[in-house]
Amino acid sequence: METQIVPLGTASAIPTTERHLASTALWRKGRLLLFDCGEGTQMRLLQSGLNRARLDALFLTHHHGDHFYGTMGVISTLALLHREEPLVVVGPTGTEEAVRSMPGLANDWLPFDVEYRELPEDFPPQTVYETDEFSVAARPVEHRVPCMGFRFVEKPRPGHLDAEKARELGATEHEHLRALKRGERVAFENGHAIAPEEVLGPERPGVSFAYVMDTNPCEAGRVLAEGVDLLLHEATFAEDQEERSGKTGHSTAREAARVAEDAGAGRLLLSHFSARYDTPAPLVEEAQEIFPNTAAAEELKRYVLDPRDKEAVSA
Ligand SMILES: [Zn+2]
Ligand SMILES: [Zn+2]
Repeated sequence: METQIVPLGTASAIPTTERHLASTALWRKGRLLLFDCGEGTQMRLLQSGLNRARLDALFLTHHHGDHFYGTMGVISTLALLHREEPLVVVGPTGTEEAVRSMPGLANDWLPFDVEYRELPEDFPPQTVYETDEFSVAARPVEHRVPCMGFRFVEKPRPGHLDAEKARELGATEHEHLRALKRGERVAFENGHAIAPEEVLGPERPGVSFAYVMDTNPCEAGRVLAEGVDLLLHEATFAEDQEERSGKTGHSTAREAARVAEDAGAGRLLLSHFSARYDTPAPLVEEAQEIFPNTAAAEELKRYVLDPRDKEAVSA
């Protein structure tokens, strides 16, 4: 089943009438991950139609309010809905203390466990969340306060089964075909056996996504985005504000495009737009001069992650 990215808020610092504070949802097989959680995230989640009860983990880039203040509201609502499943919250050192200091949000008052995974400043790059089917890695980026970016990668899936060939080789039962599909060897009483590689096509790569928010353009951002199908990169400013962008720990649209280009990303979505821009159109234009497959992230739009045809992209 397809994996979707849904931007919930694309504003920087303060909301506008058109744009909400930073948060992006990843929806996969009926489960939800959230990257950043600015104030208003729970309303945007409702409006997106994604089921908030399915939230498994929340990944916070840093402790600026526009990325963080919605966390308390989301946890509070899940408590009022009598959630029982545990929730993982990944964020910088101090995340647990900040959330638990809100009256009513101490873990012992909640009907579910919150497992905080905190990362200190300049932590070594590492996997911060993993299931049988995918992983999320984090590494520090370059902002005015400790900040991190994330990389989501699905694990490769077994190749397609050539059922006809499998039957010809003697795998006549459903049970045999299922085992071969899982990559298991099937042996028969007469000593004959079928190895999975005889009947399975090549492994199918999973999809990948990088989330790089408040940062100057940096090597860590490029590494996070290396070869991803979709890169969501901040582009707070256009080129005319390059100096201000550098000083405030942000990126221009053109700088984001260079990161996408250097990383060999499949597609670039810009986000985190300064309130000075009524529309992100000029930022997209600037970025497209360097990386043509760029668009402005549209709030509540569903972007399907497609494993891209690498040959077509490099041609
Ligand atoms: Zn921000
Ligand atoms: Zn910030």
